[in-house]
Amino acid sequence: MRPRTQREGRNPRDMMARTLDSEVLETRARLHAASKGVPFTPMRQRALALFGTANKPLTLSEITEQINVHRVQVYRLLEFLQEAGCIHRLASRSLYFACEHLHSEGEAVVFMICNKCGAIQETTSGLVTRGLRGAARTRGFRVKHPTVEVEGECAKCAAGRAV
Ligand SMILES: [Zn+2]
Ligand SMILES: [Zn+2]
Repeated sequence: MRPRTQREGRNPRDMMARTLDSEVLETRARLHAASKGVPFTPMRQRALALFGTANKPLTLSEITEQINVHRVQVYRLLEFLQEAGCIHRLASRSLYFACEHLHSEGEAVVFMICNKCGAIQETTSGLVTRGLRGAARTRGFRVKHPTVEVEGECAKCAAGRAV
């Protein structure tokens, strides 16, 4: 039997069966702020903390509701956290969620979204990264957040269907 993590299966929207480490995320955000020469403000800290406790992807409305600032400011906070590598944005669903993987800079992330249960898994591929970069380069496009979103059926759902 596969070992189960603490949080696995607690919530149908639970992603990637990960155990979020808020400290790891905060360290990453602090380092990013330092490298940019900007402060890690209490507001940035608050925005990040949302993801540490949510343990599920958050919609923009949920985030705005909880930190209660103007949406423009929310966008900026999220952009900072995205750049810091603390969170990802799933454009097709307008969802934001924490990432504990340490992606190397410019590495493309592939999100696999299950149409049945909504689970999101992420993976990376050097081939995809190179392909995306190459394709963008031919158009003179500067890639900021190289991501690919793929819809389908997760292994769990596929197994359930087979029974
Ligand atoms: Zn990630
Ligand atoms: Zn599924």
